[in-house]
Amino acid sequence: MGKEFASRADLEAKRITFSELSEHAYAYTAEGDPNTGIVIGDDAVMVIDTQATPAMARDVIDRVRGVTDKPIKYVVLTHYHAVRVLGASAYGAEHVIASQDTYDLIVERGEQDYQSEYERFPRLFQAVDSIPGLTWPTITFRGEMTIRMGKTEVKLLQLGRGHTKGDTVVWLPAEKVLFSGDLVEYGATPYTGDAYLTDWPQTLDRVAALGAEKLVPGRGDAATTPATVKAALDGTREFIVQLFEAVQAGRASGKDLRRVYEDASAALRPRFGQWVIFDHCLPFDVSRAYDEAGGFRDPRIWTAERDAQLWQALAGEG
Ligand SMILES: [Zn+2]
Repeated sequence: MGKEFASRADLEAKRITFSELSEHAYAYTAEGDPNTGIVIGDDAVMVIDTQATPAMARDVIDRVRGVTDKPIKYVVLTHYHAVRVLGASAYGAEHVIASQDTYDLIVERGEQDYQSEYERFPRLFQAVDSIPGLTWPTITFRGEMTIRMGKTEVKLLQLGRGHTKGDTVVWLPAEKVLFSGDLVEYGATPYTGDAYLTDWPQTLDRVAALGAEKLVPGRGDAATTPATVKAALDGTREFIVQLFEAVQAGRASGKDLRRVYEDASAALRPRFGQWVIFDHCLPFDVSRAYDEAGGFRDPRIWTAERDAQLWQALAGEG
């Protein structure tokens, strides 16, 4: 591991796919880069996660305009991470909706997260100067909220902690389509730097109980059959459980973070190493798991400085 973050060297543009999943649901995916979901209701459009910058959001808008001229009225944030929310202004939506917990995280750590995410992975912030500042929700909810877009019923559900404290999924019950945000990934490595690893598997149980037949994950291709939805859920769960078990065992035996990282990397790589952003995520994933195994209930705030210190420590340079 060198001094640069793994993803600083990741510069190749991804191929974008915009696909229709059901009568009202579309997926905007990009070979493992952050996805955006779209619901086209009877009278308006909802965008779920916005892309990292307004300039990148323009491409989403162009694709939406290829299938409808209805106004984009709602933006939903599945959680607070900069790479998903800072493009929001481009849509000109009347409402920006998030859970109260997500709102609280933006207040508490949104600015630090923006700096940290940008410096970790600059390719994901094309035309970063087009970002006007943090994205502030205009409507917040606790637990559950229903939006009726004409006859199309859309449920926003906070099913428990997982990828973050504020995770929200968007569910179309009539069409059994689920937009999961980073709670579920498909062929992409879960990022657990801000996660609740003890809670995440139980939250996945509640996600699975919805009975989705199609899924837009946070990263990776859309799952368009019950079998691939199950594969995405199972794969995410396996990664979370194996990561946390490996780190808990290492910490319990008195190993320091660097040794635990090396052991976890060796244990997980055969099964998960080919997933997108494995090397990018693992240092941050192990660091949070090590904290949670040591009794830190809530994730510590990542700053650009803390990122660099971690990277150097794990490279043996700190
Ligand atoms: Zn995220």
